[in-house]
Amino acid sequence: MTETRLTSLTSARRLIVKIGSALLTTDSGGAPNHDWLAALTDDIAALKVKGTEIIIVSSGAVAVGRQALGLTGGALCLEEKQAAAAAGQIGLFHAWQEAFARHKIQTAQILLTPGDTEERRRHLNARNTVETLLSLGAVPVINENDTVATEEIRFGDNDRLAARVAQMIGADGLVLLSDIDGLYSADPRHNRSPHFIPEVAEITPEIEAMAGEAAPGYSSGGMVTKIEAARIATRAGCAVIIADGKAAHSLAAIDSGKRRTWFHATATPSTARKRWIAGSLTPSGVLTIDEGAAKALGNGKSLLPAGVVSVSGVFERGDAVVIENSAKVRLGCGLVAYSSKDAKLIAGHKTGEIETLLGYRGRDEMMHRDDLVIDG
Ligand code: GLU
Repeated sequence: MTETRLTSLTSARRLIVKIGSALLTTDSGGAPNHDWLAALTDDIAALKVKGTEIIIVSSGAVAVGRQALGLTGGALCLEEKQAAAAAGQIGLFHAWQEAFARHKIQTAQILLTPGDTEERRRHLNARNTVETLLSLGAVPVINENDTVATEEIRFGDNDRLAARVAQMIGADGLVLLSDIDGLYSADPRHNRSPHFIPEVAEITPEIEAMAGEAAPGYSSGGMVTKIEAARIATRAGCAVIIADGKAAHSLAAIDSGKRRTWFHATATPSTARKRWIAGSLTPSGVLTIDEGAAKALGNGKSLLPAGVVSVSGVFERGDAVVIENSAKVRLGCGLVAYSSKDAKLIAGHKTGEIETLLGYRGRDEMMHRDDLVIDG
């Protein structure tokens, strides 16, 4: 693991940059901070040129919207926050679009709820959309779908959302740009001489204790939520970097040696994903495949409809199913790209026939190689 550790942003294959509301809006209120955004998108464009795929997780909808709607006094109730998010998301996204347009980079807006990243069925849809956007060179800008989520089914903070997205799309780096430059041995707001922690190999109870207690009214976006996000992401094979984002060009500053805390991943994205697919799954069906397909899977290829001999069970797209050979020997399992009804219709057929058989053009593969695990 050590030799494959991510040590710079430029060497990341797929990087998520999470930005909090305080960085995105000007000090005087809820207007997007265009100068800061311009500098950040300069850094992102430079990383993209070097081949790193970028996904933004952006907060700021509530902050921008509350000003636009005149909701300026005190704490907002849930409905007001949701209304503010609905109004503010437009201005927020527009600011991103404008900043990226300077580099001729296309952006795309994605609003997610927890189920979209955590439930396997919905996960496959969200993942495929992000993958497609990245393959087309766009930068997805993601936020929580605040207007439809009630208190109980919210991510609540975008640190956690960003970590779930990292897990969903197999990112190898996640930068949490913050108003603090990283992790200290104790909360620097209450302790005079805490020491700085530049690197974390593993999130131990000692590391957790350093984050302290979440201050009342400060549960969103504090160090506690950052450590929690780091735990989710590092287990999923993604390094996490907490860095001070207040100054312009703070992404470029990370690679030039500015102080930051770097949490190392404890797996690789692909082994973590395979573990996630294989673990705690109750398969809802079986695909029986022919010898040619079994050989292809053994060589790391995807499962095409042509290699499927029969389909049993009742399942939806994204459900877990088992793969067997014609002697009923289990070969592996994975997330299937078609429902059992459609899988039966296309089994044994060429990929080019899918559209005629189903009336729509679905995925070329019955099960993509990233979505399947062959038994060891
Ligand atoms: N989704 C919220 C917003 O856009 C922010 C949540 C957070 O910052 O953690 O305002």
